[in-house]
Amino acid sequence: MNGREWISKKWNELLDLVYPPSLYCISCGRIIDSSRTYSLCNDCMASVSWAAGRCCIKCGRPLSDNDPGDLCFGCAGREKTGRPFAFDKGHACAGYGAAAQSVIFALKYGGRSDIGDVLGEILYDRLTAEYGDSLSEIYDFVVPVPVHRDRKERRGYNHADLMADRFCALAGMRCENSVLIRTKPTAPMKGLTPGQRASNIRGVFEVRRHRLDDVCGASVLLVDDIFTTGATVDEAARTLKECGALRVDFISFAAAGDMVHSG
Ligand SMILES: [Zn+2]
Ligand SMILES: [Zn+2]
Repeated sequence: MNGREWISKKWNELLDLVYPPSLYCISCGRIIDSSRTYSLCNDCMASVSWAAGRCCIKCGRPLSDNDPGDLCFGCAGREKTGRPFAFDKGHACAGYGAAAQSVIFALKYGGRSDIGDVLGEILYDRLTAEYGDSLSEIYDFVVPVPVHRDRKERRGYNHADLMADRFCALAGMRCENSVLIRTKPTAPMKGLTPGQRASNIRGVFEVRRHRLDDVCGASVLLVDDIFTTGATVDEAARTLKECGALRVDFISFAAAGDMVHSG
């Protein structure tokens, strides 16, 4: 670290003492006033591509104008080949653009655990906009997609736990972060093909044996930060369904756009 970097680091630490983190935009770091919705400055609020238009009725991915039907190309292909996702229905709050990415990176890799609360609030607003505020009549409990114990220890928290905790506090629902566990550490998904992602994640989740009764016959809502190929949430849903869950939906903060249709 050179002198200038050190001064800038110290200056930022000092600012953290003067201004609590909630007074910074969670995407760009600009100082904002505390009345801003979701702790985003005006520019970032406008640049998040909120999922307001047509979405895939299966996975919830925002649909582009090129998608002719109600399903994205990925889900349509899966239906056609008889291997649909194991979850019943997905929901996303925003497209995965630059603003959403910087928020997620700050939460996952930048130690900004406070962002989990904001995202939990966004998930709650998104789902109540769709189903009204009696979410507890639809779902028995909420399950944050688990990370492996080693990763949780390194980061100090599982970001999905934080999001789900806040969501459940607002919805008056039960957050169950010990029903489903991740038994094996996995290589990062980034840079893997969809096929490699699916085999990387296969068999990594397990329902705790003493919680099997809770899962059997239950309607479950999974929570995660981002939906890309869907391999992780699909595997989590498959595991819950194999243990008798009747319905498994999920909600993520961001979803990557539809796969490019090349033919
Ligand atoms: Zn901003
Ligand atoms: Zn889809």
